[in-house]
Amino acid sequence: MKDGRHTCKSCSNEFVGSYCNVCGEKVLTPGDKSFKSIFNSVLLTITFSDSKFIRTLWQVLRKPGTVARDFAAGKRVKNISPMSLFFCA
Ligand SMILES: [Zn+2]
Repeated sequence: MKDGRHTCKSCSNEFVGSYCNVCGEKVLTPGDKSFKSIFNSVLLTITFSDSKFIRTLWQVLRKPGTVARDFAAGKRVKNISPMSLFFCA
């Protein structure tokens, strides 16, 4: 791990930085392996990304046009963009 060089766990490529430049494998930091970190990312995925997605989807189903209108009006924080909804759905 000295001078930022890593050997990829997946393809044994030597590289500098946090991601393998051959296969894209991420270098695991001690924090990445901890249960808390895994738990946090799962929790984040469920409570943040998914609820946002479901809420946007629900709003589209209930009031079609509201999301697109809000998005056009600049209210882009509370909903994911209509484009990403389009790609997810
Ligand atoms: Zn690799």
